Amino acid sequence: MNIKRPEQPETITSTSNAEVKMLRALHERKYRRQTGLFLAEGMRHCTEALSVGFSPMRLVYAAGRETDRGMSALIAACKAAGGRVLPVTPNLLSRISGKDNPQTVISAFPVRYQELSQIMPEGIWVALDRVRDPGNLGTIMRTADAVGAKGIILIDECTDAYSVEAVRASMGAVFNVDIIQTSSADFMRWAEGWKGEIVGTALPASKDYRTVAWQQPLILLMGNEQAGLSDTLSQQCTQLVRLPMLGRSDSLNLAVATGICLYEAIR
Ligand code: SAM
Repeated sequence: MNIKRPEQPETITSTSNAEVKMLRALHERKYRRQTGLFLAEGMRHCTEALSVGFSPMRLVYAAGRETDRGMSALIAACKAAGGRVLPVTPNLLSRISGKDNPQTVISAFPVRYQELSQIMPEGIWVALDRVRDPGNLGTIMRTADAVGAKGIILIDECTDAYSVEAVRASMGAVFNVDIIQTSSADFMRWAEGWKGEIVGTALPASKDYRTVAWQQPLILLMGNEQAGLSDTLSQQCTQLVRLPMLGRSDSLNLAVATGICLYEAIR
């Protein structure tokens, strides 16, 4: 008796395949903007994405791994969303991820931005003034998620929350926090009507971060890695705090300072 197997797509083996080229191009911001897609790697993060409502538009996996735990749900979600399921050779997985030892699955998901006007006056938000380092942004998304914060507000020219580096550093948190992009002018206008605290962090501030009442709804406003918090944004804060520097270093890493404040805020 012939047992009918579900039809398997053909394994892609060529680096010049158009889908492989498109997925590889998602390492560049320009192509993420053009396609509205970004890459996430690994079964754990792809499954996490699925569980919070993201469907893969491209699902790339090492050919032969169709029966891996979690894969059938990803394949079904990709097909249901009208996406493409692409078994590839290990060499192509490595090419798409840019790593020598890639995960066995990589997905391209649609980017998802929220608007300032959608923010409800509750919980904790982290606003970042011109954050430049994708590792910092990813770590901040991860920490924001860890304390149950609602999301991240990216002000002015920031590094891309959906870059491969930021997504990797977020360890899947990119799917769990809302992401908003705005200008400082729009943020300032919107913040006029914010019915809560806006706590800014700045080296010249005189208040110790442990002495303020961290009440919610809260926006924690963090400055740029080099230039710190801009004067205009500082003026929008209801409180400005500093973290004591007891040694010879003049400042903390942005993601570390954000983490300390976030945990103080939920203490
Ligand atoms: N040279 C920059 C400056 O003058 O602000 C240093 C920026 S620091 C690396 C990046 C951001 O982390 C700061 O803008 C601030 O939001 C926060 N930060 C780092 N160390 C801090 C501290 N000791 N007190 C308050 N904020 C701090």
